[in-house]
Amino acid sequence: MPVALVTGASKGIGAACAVALAEAGHDVGIGYGTDADGAEATAAAVRAAGREAFVHQADVSDENQAAGLVSAVEEALGPLDALVLNAGITRDGPALRMDSEDWSAVIDTNLSGAFYTARPALRGMLRRRAGSIVAISSVVGLSGNVGQVNYSAAKAGMLGMVKSLAREAAPRGIRVNAVAPGYITTEMTAAIPEQLQERILEHTPLGRFGTPEDVAAAVRFLCSDDAGFMTGAVVSVDGGLAIGV
Ligand code: NDP
Repeated sequence: MPVALVTGASKGIGAACAVALAEAGHDVGIGYGTDADGAEATAAAVRAAGREAFVHQADVSDENQAAGLVSAVEEALGPLDALVLNAGITRDGPALRMDSEDWSAVIDTNLSGAFYTARPALRGMLRRRAGSIVAISSVVGLSGNVGQVNYSAAKAGMLGMVKSLAREAAPRGIRVNAVAPGYITTEMTAAIPEQLQERILEHTPLGRFGTPEDVAAAVRFLCSDDAGFMTGAVVSVDGGLAIGV
């Protein structure tokens, strides 16, 4: 059976990706940071889809813990066929008033955490000459955003990482792609003030917010053989928010 690892799978987009990959036939490693109950709920949903689940806590901003996550999942379920780099945080604020801790925390988790997880996974994939990696970036990695200088920089950095890894790994048949979601209804976006939510909706041509399942559908596709000729791509799942960016 193919094996997938999803980071940040205790809730939101990561949980939906874990379930979608299970429905596509993967056994799933479920990485999480602090929410053990959420991770167990995702595992139960994976098992309900008829696949094996393995839950492992790791702070991906710590290189050793990220490597430990990859090796624990490979030991429990087998070599990785798919990796979803989804763990992420926001610490918003105006650039001039943002303290360096908020800058570093967001870069360390979103960007370095993705790299620290991708590298050990890639080692095994390169040996086996197979695998697919999908990084969850963001529309703001393409456009920038007021109050999100740290997050936009991290998400734009992920696109550079994806394109570089795609070039490096392509000769061995490994594909590396990014998904750039727009506004998706999760705990992360629940904190956005209502007025700002309304403004985002006005700029979303499809006229609704996205769901975690909208993103998971694109991730499942990118991990499948149907996307066999796609690498280094950035797939927008944003209701049209990024048209013109
Ligand atoms: P949530 O806040 O709902 O979930 C974030 C997940 O990341 C949780 O499982 C959390 O684990 C995990 N996580 C956070 N920090 C760490 C860490 N240091 N180590 C390991 N895991 C960690 O977010 P969303 O589902 O909304 O977002 C998922 C991804 O999608 C993020 O990368 C986000 O930036 C991106 N995204 C989201 C958009 C949206 O509109 N929601 C839009 C564009 C991109 P735990 O809770 O267990 O601590």
